Amino acid sequence: MFMIRMAVLTYRLFLVLMMGSGCVGLSPGSPSVVVKRTQMHMGTLVSITAVAPTDQAAHNAINAGFQEVKRLEQLLSTWIPSSELSLVNASAGIRPVPVSPETWRVVQRARQAADMTGGGFNIAIGPAVDVWRVTESQRIPTESELDALRPLVDLQAVHVDVWEQTIYLEKTGMRIDVGGIGKGYAADQAVAALRRAGAVAGVVALSGDIKTFGQLPGGRKFPVGIQHPRKEGEVLVYIDLEDEAISTAGDYERFFEHDGVRYHHILDPKTLQPARGCQSVTVIAKEGVWADGLDTGIFVMGPERGMELVEQLPDVEAIIVDHDGHMLVSSGLKPRIRLP
Ligand code: ADP
Ligand code: MG
Repeated sequence: MFMIRMAVLTYRLFLVLMMGSGCVGLSPGSPSVVVKRTQMHMGTLVSITAVAPTDQAAHNAINAGFQEVKRLEQLLSTWIPSSELSLVNASAGIRPVPVSPETWRVVQRARQAADMTGGGFNIAIGPAVDVWRVTESQRIPTESELDALRPLVDLQAVHVDVWEQTIYLEKTGMRIDVGGIGKGYAADQAVAALRRAGAVAGVVALSGDIKTFGQLPGGRKFPVGIQHPRKEGEVLVYIDLEDEAISTAGDYERFFEHDGVRYHHILDPKTLQPARGCQSVTVIAKEGVWADGLDTGIFVMGPERGMELVEQLPDVEAIIVDHDGHMLVSSGLKPRIRLP
């Protein structure tokens, strides 16, 4: 029978920071405070931590970070009918839509992530995501339903005009969905806002997407724990981050089971079925947009090809838990992980 698990209160990455607001010495003569606040945006919990010279400065930086996340949500969310991406989708097969530089950039990055992952990452997946809606309907679409959608999941039919700054979806019924890359991009932009507002270090975490900058007072890096994909609340490994982003894609938050088969929300663009090679993929990169785009794309590629890709990319590391629960760690990360 069906079994459902909800995502809201589980975590893919744990920020191992036990702190509230307070003064901590950065170094003698330069006190700093660490402040953390959490709000709900982009359909998930967003936590922002700021290290700044004063309490006021930390709160100002956090406000600027949340403001940036809210601004991007208005551009990129397909749940908001007036967002730029919703307008692009509503104009599929009709006309190109002028978009802001941010929307344009996310779609460009998504196309690059598609190239890097051999098409594993594909933002044209929208119509298939809609028909699955795994946690809500718990319904398995028929093969003929999926066949009908297949021509719409076509990245070649997503036209991005550099000069006009427009996006045009060529076929009626196409939909782009940046759910696999947008939160990483938002984390990058929120960190930029924190820096502009005067924070000297910090973390922006949007559920499974985290971007850090600088260090904690006392010269400590930001420790992060990665959720075990099959043991709820248990940490798989710990890793310290500095000026890096980390992002996890997993099959254990939004899924249902039917006849012993797990159906989850990361779809293979070829089969339009849930990707089967991995239980979880964690990617560490300099930018959140790459960590997020690659975790989803590598999940689809599967453990072997995925790890091969990671080993070729400079400044990109990964921890992959394969279909059988075996953990693969990229060579650059092996000396950095700590087991719980
Ligand atoms: P989340 O943090 O929301 O779980 P992930 O980075 O794990 O995001 O990506 C999953 C989301 O990406 C799905 O909810 C869907 O919106 C979208 N998606 C699913 N399959 C693909 C794919 N093959 N390529 C690009 N995006 C995808
Ligand atoms: Mg992703």
